[in-house]
Parts: sequence; structure tokens; C-alpha cells
Amino acid sequence: MTLRKAIALIAHDQKKDDLAAFAKSHEQAMKAFPIVATGTTGARIIDACPDLDVTRLKSGPLGGDQQIGALIATGDVGLVIFFVDPLTAMPHDVDVKALMRLAIVYDVPMALNRATAETRLKALA
Ligand code: PGA
Repeated sequence: MTLRKAIALIAHDQKKDDLAAFAKSHEQAMKAFPIVATGTTGARIIDACPDLDVTRLKSGPLGGDQQIGALIATGDVGLVIFFVDPLTAMPHDVDVKALMRLAIVYDVPMALNRATAETRLKALA
């Protein structure tokens, strides 16, 4: 069991390439943390960064966002990196809002773009 809280990784479809590239370029820093990710995002991260300790949850629209919300509520997530696609309507938008709400409630940092993710990762190092 690790004492370090997990980094949660999620990306909407149009942002998955960006998140995989981000994870690749920060693999060293992220190696020190357990990673949880929604299903499809997690598969992409595992492909790009085989050395990371990634736990894949359900796909976002099938409950993965809510699983990450539950991990926030239990205190197991220290940082959420969610590359959101702001130009596409999402059928599971309510789940995304619920996840953001729990990050606010539990005061967990939530990076919604690369610039913020970089500053938060540096702060964790
Ligand atoms: P996915 O889910 O990684 O399974 O595609 C992300 C999302 O919430 O859209």
C-alpha cells in the first residue's frame, strides 16, 4: 500500500492525444505516484508510459468519472488532471460536473488544461 495519494487522469476524446503526450513528457515526475484513470484514457496512458502504475477504472460515460469522484471523497486522490474538450457536447456532462463539484468540496486541485497541470505537478515534486 502506498501512502501517496493518486493522480487522476481523464481526457475527453479530442484531448486524449494531448494528455498522452503530457504524461509522456512528465513520466519521471508521475512515476512517484499511483495513477488512476478513466478506462479509455488509462489505456492510452499505459500505451504511452508503460512504466507508470496505472489503475484503469470504467470509461467516463459508463461511471469512471463518478468512480474518481468517489476516490476524491475517500481521500485517495491528491490531484485531478482532466483535459476537457470545451467544443463538444458530452452526454455525461452531469458526471463531469459532479466530479468538479467533489474536487471543490474536498479542496483537491483540479487541472483542466496543460498549463495548470504543469504547475500542479511541479508543486507535487
Ligand atoms: P474515457 O472517459 O477515458 O473512458 O474516454 C473520459 C471521459 O469522461 O470522457
